[in-house]
Amino acid sequence: MYLVSTLEMLKRAQQGGYAVPAFNVHNLETIQVIMETAAEMSSPVILAGTPGTFGYAGTEYLVAICEQASNQYKMPVALHLDHHEDYADICHKVTAGVRSAMIDGSHFNFQENIQLVKKVVDFCHHWDCSVEAELGRLGGQEDDLIVDDKDALYTDPDAAVEFIQKTGIDSLAIAIGTAHGMYKSEPHLDFDRLAIIRQKTDTPLVLHGASGIPDADVRRCIDLGICKVNVATELKIAFSDAIKDYFTHHPDANDPRHYIVPGKAAMKKIVADKIRVCGSAGKL
Ligand SMILES: [Zn+2]
Repeated sequence: MYLVSTLEMLKRAQQGGYAVPAFNVHNLETIQVIMETAAEMSSPVILAGTPGTFGYAGTEYLVAICEQASNQYKMPVALHLDHHEDYADICHKVTAGVRSAMIDGSHFNFQENIQLVKKVVDFCHHWDCSVEAELGRLGGQEDDLIVDDKDALYTDPDAAVEFIQKTGIDSLAIAIGTAHGMYKSEPHLDFDRLAIIRQKTDTPLVLHGASGIPDADVRRCIDLGICKVNVATELKIAFSDAIKDYFTHHPDANDPRHYIVPGKAAMKKIVADKIRVCGSAGKL
């Protein structure tokens, strides 16, 4: 087995009316939990890492661990570059074995965004690497990038069509009212906007910022055409809270093989929950 692009995964999800969950990973343990759970539930899965994660763990380490996971469970795995912004950086990681990339040029104006994304698509498609881009802006924080809530702009449906045509991307992340991180107030999603975008394009659509969105709302987004749901913050919180709790009860603990275990167990529940919400169980 080897690392795959998300092209087939997302097309199948679109046809089947479900979404593939994309979980942000940080280290060996988070990859183990996600792969074990996805294999048990026969769910396709995307393992995502921000530039910060790749910098922390090392690209070659992450590629090797994910390839091993794919071999061990005999299932295709997509290792995905989440919110990458730098052309040369993406080229390096694709050359190292990654086959799924997000180029986030959403902070540029429309024409500059198209130019950057097109350049990345030209490179990536040569390597059979699928490309996701974002139009509109999400609020909140992703890695070191903070977007003021007021600056968050929703995706314009007609601009989305033009953007897809001019760039040749394989999937589009849209902004319909979700934000990165946990929500300070109850989010109100623009379902009508999503429906219109889906009417105008067959390109698989991606939902970022799904942590803290009620399951019924995520399900509705999937029914309206979302094929990939990103989950990051909820996993981090579950993992960390369980480990903090372990240290509260075992203040002298010093063996990672013990204190990380409850973190993995807590994370596993969230992964299984999200696979259920995405409707991807049994779709491998
Ligand atoms: Zn995101």
